[in-house]
Amino acid sequence: MTNTIKNIAIFDLDGTIIDSSHRQLANADGSINLEHWFANNTSEKIAKDKLLPLSKAIKNADYVVFCTSRQLQNADLDFFKTNGLLANKIISRPFGNTEKDGILKKRQLQFLVNFKQFKQATKVMFDDNAEVRQEDRKLFPVINPNKLNKEVA
Ligand SMILES: [Mg+2]
Repeated sequence: MTNTIKNIAIFDLDGTIIDSSHRQLANADGSINLEHWFANNTSEKIAKDKLLPLSKAIKNADYVVFCTSRQLQNADLDFFKTNGLLANKIISRPFGNTEKDGILKKRQLQFLVNFKQFKQATKVMFDDNAEVRQEDRKLFPVINPNKLNKEVA
């Protein structure tokens, strides 16, 4: 089977393709506020999240990865479905994990650099967290989505 993946796009969720600011999940620097996250992670609140303009770019990639430093639950998957957010792979924080966002994501995304079927593909990642951008740029380019979301909006 010839199934060549030419380009891969990796999208953070909160502050990148999803506006969940009403839940105040993020600290000022864009890192996840785990304490606040737990209190505001109800199905009702998740359903009130909105899409950001950059979410329209998802369909342009051959292979799409969602990579979030939050833990995911069924209500999040329902939100993806309701809003037509489709990914080939969804990566989230394992339960009980407290690593820094950038370190966690770099480790979880390493397979895109190592695995044969992804090695040759062009890769770009979007993340509003400066610490993630700095850390994960060791793997591939990471773009700050803030400007893009303002320009397209
Ligand atoms: Mg974010």
